[in-house]
Amino acid sequence: ATPMALMIGTGRGAQMGILIKGPEVLETTRRVDTVVLDKTGTVTTGQMTLLDVVADEGVDADELLRLAGALENASEHPIARAIAEGAAARVGELPSVEDFANVEGLGVQGIVGDGDESRAVVVGRVRLLEDWAQYLSPPLAAAMDAAAAQGRTAVAVGWDGKARGVLVVADAIKPTSADAITQLRELGLTPVLLTGDNAKVAAAVAAEVGIDPDQVIAEVMPSDKVDVVARLQSEGKSVAMVGDGINDAAALARADLGLAMGTGTDVAIEASDLTLVRGDLRAAADAIRLSRKTLGTIK
Ligand code: ADP
Ligand code: MG
Repeated sequence: ATPMALMIGTGRGAQMGILIKGPEVLETTRRVDTVVLDKTGTVTTGQMTLLDVVADEGVDADELLRLAGALENASEHPIARAIAEGAAARVGELPSVEDFANVEGLGVQGIVGDGDESRAVVVGRVRLLEDWAQYLSPPLAAAMDAAAAQGRTAVAVGWDGKARGVLVVADAIKPTSADAITQLRELGLTPVLLTGDNAKVAAAVAAEVGIDPDQVIAEVMPSDKVDVVARLQSEGKSVAMVGDGINDAAALARADLGLAMGTGTDVAIEASDLTLVRGDLRAAADAIRLSRKTLGTIK
């Protein structure tokens, strides 16, 4: 295509809410055949709410919420926001936290409260608790499974060396996601769902938006997302990755084409070639159509 055609294409993109980093990006956009979609914040809104509090036998539900809420108050993760806000609404002021640590892709830990009242609390994936030899009782494990089967994310809460409860949060699927995925398929692309979340949650979301069950890659650590992209590339695929979070930056940079949600983090936007300003996944299909039009009509 002539530089003029590329410039016009880039300008059209901007009008459609697609920011294109450079004219050469349109060429890679046209060649893409696989679209890897991050789940949280990309296919879903990323705005979670606390739906359910399940305390183990002998554990006070408000205490569970107070300790977990205090800890999550120190984290920016969407799950953390839901828990901290839900806890504050139900139990009021939350205790202070010391020695807070974020365990990437797994959860959070820290010391909640002061003096004799202080407790070593952990909130996150079951794997995180298991690493610390805390195991869910059968009722808590059942609560986790039930939540996941409904496409909800459940996290475990433990303190002083014992698993104490489960908190269920849910994140709404964006109303435009299913349509966007239909459009991507019609353009001949294969959509793939990639997430750090539980496999059952991922499967439920995939079913709702029309992604094939065998194209779901779940329970992937943040640092391993980039390896998933590299693996698809080594299979000969030309990969677009759509993401919004800090976690997605390496995968966005590695992909043949990185698309960031305009509603996402600056880190994700910097690592990508295209930004979908409105955070609407349908703009990914618009970008593919635009590249085909721009490069197809003028040789
Ligand atoms: P995604 O790939 O869906 O954006 P992440 O990689 O950020 O997810 O997190 C993966 C999983 O780790 C979450 O589904 C959750 O179980 C757990 N997790 C991460 N951060 C937290 C947190 N602050 N509180 C509780 N659980 C967390
Ligand atoms: Mg995310």
